Amino acid sequence: MARVAIVTGGTRGIGEAISLALQDMGMTVAANYAGDDARANAFSERTGIRTYKWDVGDFDACQDAVKRVEADVGPVDVLVNNAGITRDATMMKMTAEMWDEVIRVNLGGCFNMAKATFPGMRERKWGRIVNIGSINGQAGQYGQVNYAAAKSGIHGFTKALAQEGARFGITVNAVAPGYIDTDMVAAVPADVLEKIVARVPVGRLGQASEIARGVAFFCSEEGGFATGSTLSINGGQHMY
Ligand code: NDP
Repeated sequence: MARVAIVTGGTRGIGEAISLALQDMGMTVAANYAGDDARANAFSERTGIRTYKWDVGDFDACQDAVKRVEADVGPVDVLVNNAGITRDATMMKMTAEMWDEVIRVNLGGCFNMAKATFPGMRERKWGRIVNIGSINGQAGQYGQVNYAAAKSGIHGFTKALAQEGARFGITVNAVAPGYIDTDMVAAVPADVLEKIVARVPVGRLGQASEIARGVAFFCSEEGGFATGSTLSINGGQHMY
C-alpha cells in the first residue's frame, strides 16, 4: 500500500515542491491550503494531487480534515507541517493581532496537525513528521519577532516530539530553509532582497525543489534513523 502524506500549504511554493517530491516517491498526497481555490484547483488538475481547504490554526478543523483525508485515501503515515505566514513589523509597530496570527498558524498549526495524526502513527508504529522551520528562527531577523519566535518554537517542538515518537517508529525532524524563490519572498521589498542575497555565500535564492529533496529524505523509509534533527538548506547563509 502506498504511504499517505499530508502536506500543509502543499499547493504552492515550497509546499507544492514537497507534494510533488512525495508523489514521485510513490506516496498518495493530500495537499492542504488556506483559501486560494484557483491556485489549488490548477495545481490539482496539473498534478492529480487531491487538495483540501482548511485553516491549520484551527484545532477542530484539523481534526475534521484528517478524518476526511483518511476516509478518502487511508491512514496518514506522513505529515509535513509546511503552511506558514508572515506579518512583519518592527516591535514598535507590531500589533498583538500580528503576533497572535503568526504564532497561531505557524506554530499552533504544527501542534494541531500533530494532535490529529500522531495517535494513528503511534498505533501503527510508523510515522514521519517534518516541520518547516526557517533560517530566521535560527538566527533571528529584524522586523520578525513573531515569525522568528514561531519558527524557533518549531525547532523545539520537533526535538520534544521526536523523543516521544522514537520508540513507536515515528521520526520528527525539521528543515530550515534560507531564502527561497516563492511568493513569500516576492513580498520582500527589492532593495531589502538584494541585500539579503548579497549575504548568501552561494549568491542566489534557493529553489523550492532544493528544500523538497531534504524533506523527502526525512519522509523516506531509509530516513528512519534520523530524528530530532534540523537540516539547514540555506546556501551557507547561516552555519552552526
Ligand atoms: P507561500 O506563501 O508561497 O505558500 C504558503 C502556503 O501555505 C499556501 O499553500 C497557503 O495556502 C498555505 N497557508 C497559509 N496559511 C495557511 C493556513 N492558516 N492554513 C492552511 N494553509 C495555509 O509560502 P512558502 O512556500 O514561501 O513557505 C512555505 C513554508 O516555508 C512556510 O512555513 C515558510 O515560513 C517557510 N519558509 C519559507 C522561506 C522562503 O524563503 N520562502 C524561508 C524559510 C522558511 P493558500 O495558497 O490558500 O494561501
